[in-house]
Amino acid sequence: MSTESRPTSNEAAFERAQRVTPGGVNSPVRAFRAVGGTPRFIRRAEGAYLWDVEGQRYIDYIGSWGPMILGHGHPAVLDAVIQAARNGLSFGAPTEAEAELAEAIIAQVPTVEQLRLVSSGTEAAMSALRLARGATGRPKIIKFEGCYHGHADALLVKAGSGLATFGHPTSAGVPAEVVQHTLVLEYNNVAQLEEAFALHGPQLACVMIEPIAGNMNFVRASLPFMSRLRELCTQHGALLIFDEVMTGFRVALGGAQSVYARQIPGFRPDLSVFGKVIGGGMPLAAFGGTRDVMAQLAPLGPVYQAGTLSGNPVATACGLATLREICRPGFFDALSARTRQLAEGLQAGARAAGVPLVSECEGGMFGFFFADTLPQNYSAVMASDKDRFNRFFHAMLERGVYLAPALYEAGFVSAAHSQADLDATLQAAAEAFKA
Ligand SMILES: *Cc1c(COP(=O)(O)O)cnc(C)c1O
Repeated sequence: MSTESRPTSNEAAFERAQRVTPGGVNSPVRAFRAVGGTPRFIRRAEGAYLWDVEGQRYIDYIGSWGPMILGHGHPAVLDAVIQAARNGLSFGAPTEAEAELAEAIIAQVPTVEQLRLVSSGTEAAMSALRLARGATGRPKIIKFEGCYHGHADALLVKAGSGLATFGHPTSAGVPAEVVQHTLVLEYNNVAQLEEAFALHGPQLACVMIEPIAGNMNFVRASLPFMSRLRELCTQHGALLIFDEVMTGFRVALGGAQSVYARQIPGFRPDLSVFGKVIGGGMPLAAFGGTRDVMAQLAPLGPVYQAGTLSGNPVATACGLATLREICRPGFFDALSARTRQLAEGLQAGARAAGVPLVSECEGGMFGFFFADTLPQNYSAVMASDKDRFNRFFHAMLERGVYLAPALYEAGFVSAAHSQADLDATLQAAAEAFKA
């Protein structure tokens, strides 16, 4: 079949893809396994909309899982990408634009003094982990159930049966020995955290956390939990790593760490991981921290890390143009107001329909649960009403609204979402709540 053949239905496109790609997709959640049905095959996107191969239009609340904060096809971003592409797709040698992007990120995130660019969030989190282990000379790490940090072996771990025991691999192909140093704790559970530090403190290289967890829909780390986490890391000499791949430049210009720093005086993570928005839709991510910790990386220090396409000029131009737009005065206020209106509108609409729903948002990121109260950890998220979520998801999709196809995913609003888009979404929701 030639690449010019144009399937005319999502069904046909899915069948074709399944013949040559496992499950028909290049990243599992796209397959709609959690909600059932046929994934939409996208042909084009513009502003707040996606169009599938059948010509159906959707209001897009996935935004490529976060990066498309300006909406699709923003003219300034497109111009920057095309200009960069004309100058060369990849050099394998340094460019001034890489330093410019690093400066733009550092200007908004004061805890980052130096950073390194990579090509995916997975790579950034994996490298930050190696750096933390290298810098501390310690093997063990803590992560939390429901937080996703990409698919590096050591981070693909589910909770073990007790604190003295370490986690089990979440994926086949990860030997138990590879995750034997990964301890998985319950999110927002201060007692477990204290116990883990009491047991393993001197061995702990780092704690990695999604400060506002977007891979279990939308769950904030509570203030007491975050303060205690910072104290324990400091006391025991473990590095606190904020995985802001999703929240960075999405919940606020300064990321989730700026939200916590406003409420906990002097609060700062030791290392930060970015992705998604900083690439503006191109493969780009970063990790960074203080100058002394970053100096442990090759070529200055003993921690090896590298990448053929790291700091790719086209991706870098895309990220820079995106950051330039979102740093304009008032951008985040407007985005936050719109996102809040959506989150509150969903909750009000559900209440009017007699459906229990709670919603949350920060900046341009939102979540909602079919539950009576906001979940504080992964088990509570999973205890929310999945069948109702799935019915709602499909009813919205039929009405031209594209939400994340799983109840454990956050949603994203872009600057391209208009009042009319929000009104149409809430109108569709009012009907979909009855499904
Ligand atoms: C998306 C995500 C990652 C992984 O990023 P990829 O670019 O998909 O590899 C890591 N951490 C968090 C918090 C994410 O949301």
